[in-house]
Amino acid sequence: VFQLSLPLNFLGSVYREMNQAIIDMDSLFDLENIRPKISDKPETKSINVSNGDIVFNDVSFSYIQERPILKNISFSVPAGKRVAFVGPSGCGKSTILRLLFRFYDPTTGVIKIDNTPINSVALSSLRNSLAIVPQDTVLFNATVFENIAYGNPSIGKEAVYEAAKKAHIHHLIMSLPQGYDTPVGERGLMLSDAHTQLSIMSNINEILNRESCTAIFVAHRLQTIANVDIIYVLKNGEIAESGTHIELLKKRGLYYEIWMIQENSENTQ
Ligand code: ATP
Repeated sequence: VFQLSLPLNFLGSVYREMNQAIIDMDSLFDLENIRPKISDKPETKSINVSNGDIVFNDVSFSYIQERPILKNISFSVPAGKRVAFVGPSGCGKSTILRLLFRFYDPTTGVIKIDNTPINSVALSSLRNSLAIVPQDTVLFNATVFENIAYGNPSIGKEAVYEAAKKAHIHHLIMSLPQGYDTPVGERGLMLSDAHTQLSIMSNINEILNRESCTAIFVAHRLQTIANVDIIYVLKNGEIAESGTHIELLKKRGLYYEIWMIQENSENTQ
C-alpha cells in the first residue's frame, strides 16, 4: 500500500475532499483542542509556484511537547523530481506531508517552495498548489466513486467524473476492472493486489512525466517506489539512509532489511 503526494496542481478538486479526510484523520487523535491553529499572517500573498522546488531545512516537529516526531530533517526535491519516504510504521512519513500542507508548523526549521517559506503565503494558495492521493488509512471502506464524492452525498455522477477528469485520474479509474465501482477497502485500494498497485503507479508516473510535477511519495510497499530519484529512509524521526533503490540495497542497511522482509512475505503469500 502506498500513499503519495503529487504536489503542484495535480489533483485539483479531488484534493479538496482528501484535504478534509486528512483533517478527519487528525481529529481521530482528539488533539484538535491543544493543537495551535494555523492561520494566515495579515496581508499574506498567494504563493506563485513556477518550478516546484521543495525544501525542508532543519525541520523538527512534535505533536506533543515531550515526544519529538521529526528531528532536524533536511532534504530538497528539485522541480520535477520524485522522492519517496519509507520507514517503519509511525516514523513520521505522513507527518512530513502534513507539514508541507501546513496542517501544522514545524517547531524549528523552515519549509520552502520555490524559495518561498510556506508560512509566509496564503494557506489556501499553498494547498491549492499541492495535491495528495492518500491510499490507505485515509480512504474509506467504499468505492472510488464514493471516495471522490466524499462530503457531498448528493453529488451526481457528472460532478464526480468532472473532478476526476480535472485531476487526470478519470482514465486511470476507468482502466480498473470495476471502474468507479472499484472498492477501496479499509486499508486502501485493493491491498492484496500488488499488480494493481504497480499499474496505478505506472499510470501516475506517466502523468507526472507529462505534467512535470514534483512528487513526494509516502510508501509502505517499497516495490511501488523503487524507481523514484531518491529514497529517504526515516527512523526515529531522522533520515537514517538515503539514495536510489540500488544504492540502498547495496548498503545492506534498514532499507535492505525492509525490502527483504517484504520480498519474503510476498513470496510466501
Ligand atoms: P504509518 O507508516 O503507520 O502510516 P507514519 O510514518 O506515516 O506511519 P505518522 O503518521 O507521521 O507516521 O506519525 C508519526 C508519529 O506521530 C506516530 O507515532 C503517531 O502516533 C504520532 N501522531 C500522528 N499524528 C498525531 C497527532 N495528531 N497527535 C499526536 N500524535 C500523532
